[in-house]
Amino acid sequence: MQKIVLQGIAYDEKSSFLKGPALAPPLIRKAYHSASANYFSELDIEIPPEIWQDQGDYSIEEYFDIEAITFKNLGFALPLITLGGDHSITYPILKAFHAVHGEVDILHIDAHSDLYDSFEGDRHSHACPFARIMENKLASRLVQVGIRALSTHQREQAVKYGVEIMEMKDFEVAKMPKFENPIYLSLDLDSLDPAFAPGVSHHEPGGLSTRQLLTIIQKINVPILGADIVEYNPKRDSNGMTAMVGAKLLKEIAVKMLKPL
Ligand code: MN
Ligand code: MN
Repeated sequence: MQKIVLQGIAYDEKSSFLKGPALAPPLIRKAYHSASANYFSELDIEIPPEIWQDQGDYSIEEYFDIEAITFKNLGFALPLITLGGDHSITYPILKAFHAVHGEVDILHIDAHSDLYDSFEGDRHSHACPFARIMENKLASRLVQVGIRALSTHQREQAVKYGVEIMEMKDFEVAKMPKFENPIYLSLDLDSLDPAFAPGVSHHEPGGLSTRQLLTIIQKINVPILGADIVEYNPKRDSNGMTAMVGAKLLKEIAVKMLKPL
């Protein structure tokens, strides 16, 4: 059986508004195992527990420990999925990916572009990871989808770093940029409309439906080297429904990593 490495990063120290995402990884796992659903993806392939080379959940003392942990777990030479954690974790994760794979193309799905040079005095805030990734040349291409909270500063940053943004107001699945190289997929659950995913810190109305997000993932036609699912905040969730969304996305990303293109 093909395997996928799974790691949980229980960390929300870089969240600007609310804490909570540090509690997320075990709850997304629990939703994935819920007796209310089965282990099948919609693409007719089962994603049973044996698929995971599961490294468990890490509590993080120092921010850049995330890089060392990820680097170690990339040693299995398998695709790797990270359960966050707030979105700040993506920068140290990408540092580790860069050490192994070189520059990668990134598909970043989010309500926010997370391109602030600094936010509330912190250059490693969860509002900044993609500024750090681009500044340090960790990505050959950054495509952002679902974006609907751009500030003037972030628009300037996007121009500076050549970021391709499909704003939510212009979103159509058919207009999605095409990829040619393997990608890293970074998935912030607040890309979804709060109606579909209330369990996030930043409720930004006017977002993707769960169905649209699944379609985006299912239409990816290049290999996915790694992915993260971030910003689940169980303190804001209602009956664990956003955890179930996270678990479903986990299965649909996993199947894309396993299934021949
Ligand atoms: Mn984000
Ligand atoms: Mn966001």
